[in-house]
Amino acid sequence: MNKTPLRLFIPLLCLATAQAQDKAFYDKIQITDTPVAGGIHLLQGSGGNIGASVGPDGVLIVDDQFAPLAGKIRAKLKELDPGPLRFIINTHWLGDHTGGNAELGTEGSIIAQDNVRKRLSAEQTIAAFKQTVPAAPKAALPVITFAESLSVHFNGEEIRVLHFPHGHTDGDSFVWFTKSGVIHLGDEFFMGDKSPRFPFVDASSGGDVQQLAKNIGEVIKLLPPDIKIIPGHGPLGTLADLKAYHLMLTEGIEYVRSRVAAGKTLDQIKAEGLPAKWQDCGTGFIKAENWIEEIHYSLTQPAK
Ligand SMILES: [Zn+2]
Repeated sequence: MNKTPLRLFIPLLCLATAQAQDKAFYDKIQITDTPVAGGIHLLQGSGGNIGASVGPDGVLIVDDQFAPLAGKIRAKLKELDPGPLRFIINTHWLGDHTGGNAELGTEGSIIAQDNVRKRLSAEQTIAAFKQTVPAAPKAALPVITFAESLSVHFNGEEIRVLHFPHGHTDGDSFVWFTKSGVIHLGDEFFMGDKSPRFPFVDASSGGDVQQLAKNIGEVIKLLPPDIKIIPGHGPLGTLADLKAYHLMLTEGIEYVRSRVAAGKTLDQIKAEGLPAKWQDCGTGFIKAENWIEEIHYSLTQPAK
């Protein structure tokens, strides 16, 4: 039995992976800076969004994109603040968020949830990409790990790192800059230019669509109305964007559940497509049929 979810977008991702390994591709990437609030900045290049705290204590970053970009990330951070890179927090283990660890981890201490270190320490297979990822070198491994939560007191505020289980992967953390009013949600939240986007849920890394929806519902309850939200990918979002995303998750799950209950097969549900109101959510790399597959997998496969 083929338990590989998301098989439809494997060709697209293989192409993306090949492209991502191309030096010429990285040579063209520039790291851009968007000031968010207080000393918090959003850095973007290729891969997951980087959140950076700069100030009197030095520099702390959340995620570090792909390995070939580490030098450019370091240069951009030095432009923002000449102080030392003290801490690197990984929101989860996947390479578009931890690729810079090996190089930048020689400067700052890497912090992540226990399962991030476990997955980086051993060979992994990402089923959706049909990709085997070798164990990371020692320099890339988190040196400070935690099970549920941890706080870093840095640049005049408490930075709360909160683990939520089995969402995008089994090691996701949200990083909340409590005084600045900014939170980085890693890949539990995908944002587009017009609206939130369908998420990528990596079932082979312990992710689950239904739990992801619960996690987002929980974090919405914690956040103040003026919070600024750094998504794993895409532009900054607001609490209203996150609420719209949560509604899209929960309604999408119920929609596919109703089709399964009506006796439809996965192929039939994909052929029918989703209601037009979610059209803009499928403009990223997760299309409507991928999102249907992710939900269907969560509803029909036994929990791990
Ligand atoms: Zn990502």
